[in-house]
Amino acid sequence: MITAEVRTRLNSLAYEYNVRAAAIERDLSREHAQSFSEQATERQNDMVLQGLLADARASVKQVQQAIERLNNDTYGECTQCGEMINPERLAALPAAALCINCAD
Ligand SMILES: [Zn+2]
Repeated sequence: MITAEVRTRLNSLAYEYNVRAAAIERDLSREHAQSFSEQATERQNDMVLQGLLADARASVKQVQQAIERLNNDTYGECTQCGEMINPERLAALPAAALCINCAD
């Protein structure tokens, strides 16, 4: 895979995850309902949203680290064992930091 292509993909992934995180943050900061039962439902929804927000932030971080590896010429190397990550795996998961063996 060409580095410029990977960089473009990683940049757009970072953008997507940032947009997603911002949207979830907006949802979480909305006004709360008056009634107790509605508030209980909202709290449950908020817990789900907190989980999604954590996922989105973790994904942003993962993509940023992949961009750093690209800058350091270590992109495509497993961060655990140093072996090259399978190109098909990288094509499917451009921010993958681990080879299939270490990811298991
Ligand atoms: Zn590995």
